[in-house]
Amino acid sequence: MVKQISGECFCGEVSYEFGGKLRDARSCHCSRCRKAFSAQASAYAEVDAAKFNWVKGEHLLTTYATGNGFGLQFCSRCGSTLCGVYEGAVHGVTLGCVNGDPGVEIGRHIFVGSKAAWEVLPDGVPMYDEAPPDNR
Ligand SMILES: [Zn+2]
Ligand SMILES: [Zn+2]
Repeated sequence: MVKQISGECFCGEVSYEFGGKLRDARSCHCSRCRKAFSAQASAYAEVDAAKFNWVKGEHLLTTYATGNGFGLQFCSRCGSTLCGVYEGAVHGVTLGCVNGDPGVEIGRHIFVGSKAAWEVLPDGVPMYDEAPPDNR
């Protein structure tokens, strides 16, 4: 049986459940992701939209369109960014809002060539100065 993954925002008013496996957990260190995630980098994994359900608070979500059909959805009460959307459907989740251990680790760090001057990168993880060769 697939373990149910859950997530929620900082204030707890918005929560979701996901019945599949997170795919391609990654961290992007570009300047856009730093601002979008209010952190040194993004931490994000893709989900299968058909297995994703909002449990509560969906009406509190606000979408910020980031371009090319993509957007980020955040809680309008506390500001946590919960998920990425592509053409209106949930595309992935921010790992910071996932509860507990979702059973994945960040597999690659991308755009480390434009990381913040103050960030110290971890050892032993695949890194790419820009987009990875397969460009997902
Ligand atoms: Zn919230
Ligand atoms: Zn980025």
